[in-house]
Amino acid sequence: MKIPLLDLQAQLQHLQDDLISAITRVVKSTRYIQGPEVSALEEEIADYCNVRYGVGVSSGTDALLIALMALGVGPGDRVLTSPYSFFATLGVILRVGAVPVFADIDSKTFNIDSVKVAEILRSDRDKTIKAIIPVHLYGQCADMTEIMNLAGEYEVPVIEDAAQAIGAEYPFVVNGTVVIKRAGSMGLCGCLSFFPSKNLGGIGDGGMVITGDKVFAEKLALMRNHGAQPKYFHKMVGGNFRLDPIQAAALRVKLPYLDGWHSKRAENAARYNTLFAETSLLADNTIALPASVYERKDNYKGKNHHIYNQYILRVKRRDALRDWLMDNDIGCEIYYPVPLHRQECLKDYAEFSCPQAEKAAGETIALPIYPELTPEMQAFVVEKIVEFYTCN
Ligand SMILES: *Cc1c(COP(=O)(O)O)cnc(C)c1O
Repeated sequence: MKIPLLDLQAQLQHLQDDLISAITRVVKSTRYIQGPEVSALEEEIADYCNVRYGVGVSSGTDALLIALMALGVGPGDRVLTSPYSFFATLGVILRVGAVPVFADIDSKTFNIDSVKVAEILRSDRDKTIKAIIPVHLYGQCADMTEIMNLAGEYEVPVIEDAAQAIGAEYPFVVNGTVVIKRAGSMGLCGCLSFFPSKNLGGIGDGGMVITGDKVFAEKLALMRNHGAQPKYFHKMVGGNFRLDPIQAAALRVKLPYLDGWHSKRAENAARYNTLFAETSLLADNTIALPASVYERKDNYKGKNHHIYNQYILRVKRRDALRDWLMDNDIGCEIYYPVPLHRQECLKDYAEFSCPQAEKAAGETIALPIYPELTPEMQAFVVEKIVEFYTCN
């Protein structure tokens, strides 16, 4: 049985006709830049994420970049983030000329450890940290209550990297009361990616910044269009960060299915958990399951506490297991093999000690979790993993 890590063909079967008519609609409209499809998607995504404004941009990376640019972060500034993420989170900090500061991750969630965030902010006496970028890795929110409390105390804006977590819910505590918030709606802004492998993926690149701040939203909207208002009059330097209307139209076809896909992914995760629990791999600590930490916290039993963009195991002999799965036609991936603070492009920067991120980089592996994955396929994946540890 051949099982890919992600099967977009399976999703396309139901959507092909609607996608093609959406594309045709854009083609026939001749509105090829910005226009009604982009504004409609911005409203629909903002609604979905429970925020007031959405600003469509060219990618998740550009969403992060434009957010830093709009905050005026640049040379001489530092930005606090997680060492365990996709490179874009670091790349944008370097591209605006700022210097990254890394707070190590929590060993269970793989998200930034708020205790470390507190230590670093406390030691930032010159107040050179101008933004915090927590990453909601794999589809589960970072500890935003703590992070927002610290951000408030030290007056540092928070840009949520929600590229992997659209719609993920979090029990946010305000004045002792739990309010369910969606990823990207807790900081100053949240950055979404519509890269095809995210839970809501376009038919190419796309992204969005969501925010509740009207002034910030207006600034983002100018900056994605070279800072022009009106046309040819430039108040500030932005760039061409516009979202393509064909992508917007395609994403509008897919958005109504998103909650259903989240549920399927969560069901698949629960099924893997049960299947693994029936083996000896958990008891002898050969593998550890993903921790869904908000599932029962504060009596919150909502469904999207983890949207499982990735289902990640921590395993022994990771590289050998990866080779074995590949040899058996089972798709898998390492997210991520080198933590950000160890990337070669940072060799001239100060060294950071992030032992948890380094450990994770050597032990994590992603298994297929896409919505159309069948129980038979999952049983086969688990069977092959058991076989690896018993025969090798
Ligand atoms: C995918 C991703 C991005 C970048 O999004 P693109 O749309 O690919 O530019 C940024 N951060 C994280 C955590 C991601 O997973």
